[in-house]
Amino acid sequence: MSIVLPIAAYRRGACPSLDAPMQTGDGLLSRLRIAGGRMSPAQLSAIAALAAEHGNGLVEITARGNLQVRGLTPASAAPFARAVEALIAIERGLVVETPPLAGDDPTEIADPRPLAASIRAASVLLAARLGPKVTVVVDGNGRLNRSQLKADIRLTAIGSDQWACAVGTRSDVILRNEALMVTLRALREIADIGLGARATDLPGRAVLPRRTKNISPIGAFALRRGNAIGIALPFGSSDQATLAALADVAMSHGITEFRLAPHHALLAIGAPADFASDAAALGFITDAADPRCRISACIGNQGCASGYIPARIIAARLAPVLPPGQTLHVSGCAKGCAHPRRANVTLVGQVDGYGLVIDGLAGDTPQALLGADQLEAALTAPLG
Ligand code: SF4
Repeated sequence: MSIVLPIAAYRRGACPSLDAPMQTGDGLLSRLRIAGGRMSPAQLSAIAALAAEHGNGLVEITARGNLQVRGLTPASAAPFARAVEALIAIERGLVVETPPLAGDDPTEIADPRPLAASIRAASVLLAARLGPKVTVVVDGNGRLNRSQLKADIRLTAIGSDQWACAVGTRSDVILRNEALMVTLRALREIADIGLGARATDLPGRAVLPRRTKNISPIGAFALRRGNAIGIALPFGSSDQATLAALADVAMSHGITEFRLAPHHALLAIGAPADFASDAAALGFITDAADPRCRISACIGNQGCASGYIPARIIAARLAPVLPPGQTLHVSGCAKGCAHPRRANVTLVGQVDGYGLVIDGLAGDTPQALLGADQLEAALTAPLG
């Protein structure tokens, strides 16, 4: 396996991978597409150990449910990639996503995995002509669906043999046996525009698909057989020691499988109820109402040369006073890596304090400059 080092951060269409990590403010970032999003507790612990050996020791789960390791160097990225390959199967090619409980969720209308597998197999040659961000979601439309995550092509089960097919912003109802052909035709149309094209670049797409609501992956879920408990990593990140402790706890409960889930979550398959309290004692989020679910924060100056503030420490301090329903982004600097979207309140590290941005992005011009002792008051003051 050869490693392409590194791809530039923020290049249009760029996407960090195990083969081509991305340069960020805190070293090289590698995103691991774990096959099926499934791993044993021992594999999670081993990946965390590799992150400590080759990177900065932090493992992240992204908003889409991918694993990320940061702080790799040009010298360590290749041995890290080889060690990961020896440990666990990694997916390559077109990104075809299914919900984390696909096939096990008793509320899903159809098992999306066979259709997803056929799209993966049929798109092998086409994948080289598609940008790395092009994504197909195949969704059985169960409790933990992927309806809130962006996709170029979204196939959602809506009946025993009917699927809603959304390409870019247009949605049609198709039959199951049409789904592969329709998907490949749309992928070819995207590829024909050029590398870097997305479904939204296709002409004549005008009807907005209706998005169903999904729910938090945090909590208990009944499966066709047994149950699962979902927990989340605070601010999407955890260190090697904590993940190793989680793996030990999981194994002590007889848990043999974790599944990566959107919203920075891990689902423990077959977990007993007291697994949640053990995970909470380690600092993991086990309640969907936990205010940390509404806070994004990067590593800040604790691991990134560009950071001015210890963003995650500040985020943890402010969590208890975050007003209900409000979102907060604490960013080490104006790049806003942890949340490249708007938040109700964004605190941006600056050389001389904390920039306050209301309903904006980390890169926006702050409305005020705050000291460290003014942050709680800024959060609890009326917004606007
Ligand atoms: S936003 Fe955070 S992680 Fe990104 S460059 Fe700035 S300090 Fe580093």
